[in-house]
Amino acid sequence: MEWRGRRQSNNVEYSSGSGGSRGGGMRIPIRAGGGGIGVIVIALVLWLVFGVNPLQLLGMVDTGDYQTTQSQTTTRPKGARSETEQFVATVLADTEDAWGKRFQTAGESYAKPTLVFFDGRVGSACGSASAAMGPFYCPNDQKVYLDTSFFDQLRQQLNAPGDFAEAYVVAHEVGHHVQNLLGILPRYHEAIRGMSRADANALSVRIELQADCFAGIFAHDESSAGYLQSGDIGEATNAAEQIGDDTLQRRGQGTVVPDSFTHGTSAQRQQWFEAGYRSGDVEACDTLKGAI
Ligand SMILES: [Zn+2]
Repeated sequence: MEWRGRRQSNNVEYSSGSGGSRGGGMRIPIRAGGGGIGVIVIALVLWLVFGVNPLQLLGMVDTGDYQTTQSQTTTRPKGARSETEQFVATVLADTEDAWGKRFQTAGESYAKPTLVFFDGRVGSACGSASAAMGPFYCPNDQKVYLDTSFFDQLRQQLNAPGDFAEAYVVAHEVGHHVQNLLGILPRYHEAIRGMSRADANALSVRIELQADCFAGIFAHDESSAGYLQSGDIGEATNAAEQIGDDTLQRRGQGTVVPDSFTHGTSAQRQQWFEAGYRSGDVEACDTLKGAI
């Protein structure tokens, strides 16, 4: 991807995690938004009774674990950004353009998300997270959280190298922010209350495939602007394949359990990324109705 010398977003923060405790069973996440511990207790009860993942109820998207952390965020002068941080800030700027344009066309204004770089672990308004959980989006503070060491994992363990694989990951998280602004994410979190785990997982897959489609829309605009280099789209579709639930499960546990899918199969993730990429059109990303 051609990114050097282009605009970098200023909607970037740096979290200095203070290292919460690891292990020792489940801990209560710190929650900056309303609700507090009562919500967490209710979420845990719902989890035990209905089998709904409390993280889904607390609003985090894309996470699988949580631990206690306190962290403070700071900004940093642009010159102090690492190479990877500059790249991510450029991708973020491009997503701002892509979505700003589309919201404007619809007569709305696009409230830009903040991207928080963290190292190891971080506290968010949705609870605390560790780098092991991968990048995630928290609707309560409208922030995308990214530990850039995830990109090493993407390249080395998940067999998804290339800068545009990384861009796809960032654009997918921004896709969740767009879903939040469109009211899709709040309706999703409402809907999964009281659902069986299998049903909630099935709905999660639809939400995730839409975020992939939205990432494809970003790729569409990068292509139109002439920023793509040969192989970029292949890097993104390969990443979509490598992080499909069936592929991850086959690699991790040797067997595939479709009821436990939360993000969709490799084929689905590629297909929906490509639907967004080819069309550049939000209308082509309706994963919530019909066959996926
Ligand atoms: Zn996601």
